[in-house]
Amino acid sequence: MLQTITINTREHSEMIDITSLIDQEVSKSGIKDGICLLFVPHTTAGITINESADPSVRLDMQTVLGKLVPWKDSYRHLEGNSAAHIKSSIIGSSVMAIIESGRLKLGTWQGIFFCEFDGPRSRRLHMKLQ
Ligand code: ZN
Repeated sequence: MLQTITINTREHSEMIDITSLIDQEVSKSGIKDGICLLFVPHTTAGITINESADPSVRLDMQTVLGKLVPWKDSYRHLEGNSAAHIKSSIIGSSVMAIIESGRLKLGTWQGIFFCEFDGPRSRRLHMKLQ
């Protein structure tokens, strides 16, 4: 079962907690035990699993990514968004989670984050459940 979810980002750079959205889709699918693969088909966005309890964690992650990969540097890519491409590869374009008893089996403090690095844009997220 493959679904595509649209995510409209609002900031140039942000991490959006999509855990409850994905959990709802898993619940609707009726799959009780299986795997949830999430794939971002973009080169300037990403997806990751990290702490969702304290929103400061995602802000700290964005701060550090911004220091590691400044927006302006001696990049060659003419589109001017090399930093977003590099952050996309650092974070990665897919995550996988276990479905148990019809729900995502995440750690207590974990959440799933869609990561925008060159927004705001309308983004797609592919979800394969089985
Ligand atoms: Zn580019």
